[in-house]
Parts: sequence; structure tokens; C-alpha cells
Amino acid sequence: MPAAAIETHIVDGLALANEIRKELAEEVGALRSAGRRAPRLAVVLVGDDPASASYIAGKRRACERVGMDSVERDLPASASREDVLAVVEELDADPGVDGILVQLPLPKGLDADEITSRIDAAKDVDGLTPHSAGRLLLGLPGLVPCTPLGIMKILERYAVPLAGAHAVVIGRSNIVGKPISLLLQRANATVTMCHSRTRDLRDVCRQADVLVAAVGVPRLVQADFVKPGAAVIDVGVSLVNGVLTGDVDTEAVQGIARIVTPHRRGVGPMTITMLLQNTLQAYRQRSGA
Ligand code: NAP
Repeated sequence: MPAAAIETHIVDGLALANEIRKELAEEVGALRSAGRRAPRLAVVLVGDDPASASYIAGKRRACERVGMDSVERDLPASASREDVLAVVEELDADPGVDGILVQLPLPKGLDADEITSRIDAAKDVDGLTPHSAGRLLLGLPGLVPCTPLGIMKILERYAVPLAGAHAVVIGRSNIVGKPISLLLQRANATVTMCHSRTRDLRDVCRQADVLVAAVGVPRLVQADFVKPGAAVIDVGVSLVNGVLTGDVDTEAVQGIARIVTPHRRGVGPMTITMLLQNTLQAYRQRSGA
């Protein structure tokens, strides 16, 4: 007798993000009612990449909606290393700025690692400085990259068991793959990290109770990558003929995965929401509020 198809829940990342934003707005409202200033996020944009400009506009709107302040520092694509570092240093020194993020990617010729590492660790809301990454590795409290934080919230909300589960992460970037692997391990999952040199990727993925795809290869994860009943998290965002496409073939994994995040309204809204949460966390730690 063929096995019964599994009912697949499509994660509503937007609804979860809106719930958390409502709570954040209430927290900011309480601070303002107590006579305190609003938390403030500073965003540095170098160059005129339209995708980056659109991400920044989304972050600005998200700040406004929860009552946080945001400031934007725009530099031309021709800005030198010294120009960008001067802006970061100015924001580091500004007591009214709680969170700083430098929008990536930076134009060619600028070293993103060097520039992000100059952000004051107390304001590092993207969690990308060596200080923040080191604290995460050591299991110490600190600011953690937003996309992995959002993934953990989704797994928590959908009651995905992690202790003792086998989690497979495809991708080993500093912004997604490495930190999500550490967070899953911290939650007592047994974690396997995969990358472009992994042999037999499909067979490794098929062992996963939790599969996180953070690759940028459209529809890499097909039905035969997924263990029946797995939780599948699609982080990837690629443009295919002008259409946003994820790393997971969402249609193909229906009836196999227990939950799957769609490539729209999945992980993306949670990422921005965790940026707001990190900004509030940085504000509280800096001000003692
Ligand atoms: P990245 O820095 O480009 O890293 C991609 C990773 O995937 C690398 O570790 C690479 O391996 C691995 N990889 C590439 N091709 C592979 C293949 N065929 N099989 C197995 N592994 C492969 O990317 P990222 O910054 O982590 O982002 C990953 C994706 O997530 C992108 O599409 C990005 O746009 C998206 N993203 C979405 C959000 C969101 O909020 N939704 C946030 C961040 C990123 P090597 O290390 O061996 O090169």
C-alpha cells in the first residue's frame, strides 16, 4: 500500500513577522510614553544598485511602522575606502544611533569585511563583525545575523522539534549558513553543513529532519532531496526571467515536507523584522532601558 501523502503546511512568514512587529511597536510605544527617545537605525548605502536601494526603502518603512527612527547615509559608487570608513566612524561615535548596517554588496574595490568590522560591536545589528560572530561561536549573548534569527523563530512558531534532530544546512556564508548552523547546534540539533564541494548532496539532504537551503541556485532542492515529514526552509532569492525564485521547488516538495517556507512571504519578512528586534536590543543594551 503506498504511504499516505503528508499534509504540507506553507509557512506564513509575513503573518508571523506582523505579529512580532506589533509587539515591537508596543515596546517602542512604552519607551516613548516613558519619555525616552525612539531607537534609531542608521543604514549606509554606497552606490546606486537598485536592489540595494529597494531593500533599504523596505527597512526604512519597517522602522517607521514600529515607531523607530532611521537615518540613511548615501555615498556615491566612487566613494573611497576612507570615505566609507569615515561615515562608519561618525555613526559609531553618534550616541543617538543604536544600530548601524552597511548595505551589501559594496561596489567593487571596497572590502566589505574591513568596513563591517569597523562597526561598533554594540551597534552591529547585522551581527557581522568578528566580535559578534565570535560571541555566537562561543555561545555568548550578542547580536546575531537577522536571517538565521528569523529562521529560528519560524521553527519555534511551527513547533519543529530540534533537540536530537538532524539539521542539514546548504550554504556556508557568514550571513546565513554559518550562523544558522551554530544556532541549530545550540538548540541541540545534529548539524551537517553542505556547500559547493559536498559530494552526494541529494543523499545528505534526504537525511535531514530540518533542511535549510541558503544557496542562490534556483530550485536546487527537489522532491528527492526531502525526507518525508521534514521541515524545509528556503532562504534563496534568485531572479529567473524577472521572477523571484527560491532554492526549493515548493510545488515538488508538497506532500513530502511537513512544513516549507515559500520563497515569497517566507523567510524575507522575518529577516527585516529581526533587524528591528536587533535594533531594539542594541538600544536597550546601550541605554539600559
Ligand atoms: P553566498 O554567500 O553566495 O553563499 C552561497 C553558498 O551556497 C556557498 O557556501 C556555496 O558554497 C553554496 N553553494 C553554491 N552552489 C552550490 C551548489 N550547487 N550546491 C551546494 N552548495 C552550493 O550566499 P548567501 O549570502 O548565504 O545567500 C544565499 C541565498 O540566500 C541567496 O540567494 C541570497 O539572495 C539569499 N538570501 C536571502 C535572505 C532573505 O532574507 N530571504 C537573506 C540573505 C540571503 P561554497 O562556499 O563552496 O562557495
